Amino acid sequence: RIVYVNGEYLPEDQARVSVFDRGFLFADGVYEVTSVIDGKLVDFPGHAARLERSLAELDMPSPMTSGELLAIHRELVARNDVTEGMVYLQITRGAPADRDFVFPDPAETPQTVVLFTQSKGLVDSPAAQTGLKVISIPDIRWGRRDIKTVQLLYPSVGKMMARRAGADDAWMVEDGFVTEGTSNNAYIVKDGRIITRQLGNEILHGITRAAVLAFAREAQMQVEERPFTIEEAQAADEAFITSASTFVMPVVSVDGVALGDGKPGPVARRLREIYIEQSRKAAV
Ligand code: PMP
Repeated sequence: RIVYVNGEYLPEDQARVSVFDRGFLFADGVYEVTSVIDGKLVDFPGHAARLERSLAELDMPSPMTSGELLAIHRELVARNDVTEGMVYLQITRGAPADRDFVFPDPAETPQTVVLFTQSKGLVDSPAAQTGLKVISIPDIRWGRRDIKTVQLLYPSVGKMMARRAGADDAWMVEDGFVTEGTSNNAYIVKDGRIITRQLGNEILHGITRAAVLAFAREAQMQVEERPFTIEEAQAADEAFITSASTFVMPVVSVDGVALGDGKPGPVARRLREIYIEQSRKAAV
């Protein structure tokens, strides 16, 4: 696999970052994941805009324009023959001469920019046929979940908790309400209404979420942006998650309680179809 590191395209085993990189030592970095369908990027402008926002919120300069970023994404997709999968991008505050909590001067310490691809079938995912089982876990992440940082230890621990419980993923709960999934936004459907938590610092502003809610509204579906509880989810007709790497993925049980008939629901299935069809058309 060819990866991109600080201006160079290299075989992955020749790519290097410093042991003093702040991404490694402090999780001082941001990332993006953009999906690829038919060898094209899905919603690149949305991901580029969120990246700019994540960088700005952490006082990190933009290392390049979004046009340059797009060119690197495309080059990597081409070099690795990705027809379906993801492009992962990470920008850290770089590697100063020594470990120090204080941010280095960006004029003296260039940022580290890394991109790599992952080839993976996304459209014909078997999980979309069976649906996911989720468990609930407390949300003990920091308070700026709207910034897409590389602090992914707790989401990783949460996925392991789910796996050990025989489930696929975890929904995180804070003050009695679901915030989001470990790496996705969470939704329930009740009496035809789609319910998902409103945007704020408590959740990542999903690029897929924005697209799916827009498609739902265009299709005259009712959308309520408000918090919901695990009990409300267990009493829902259906549920689903969204993310760049899963699109719309049905959820069929919450903490062991089956939703509806225990199969992927019609709203989730329809939104998945619409999302894939529209993303295919708009991909660049
Ligand atoms: N929430 C969290 C915590 C995530 O990690 C992700 C995926 N990166 C999402 C939501 C979904 O965001 P997107 O639709 O932009 O992939």
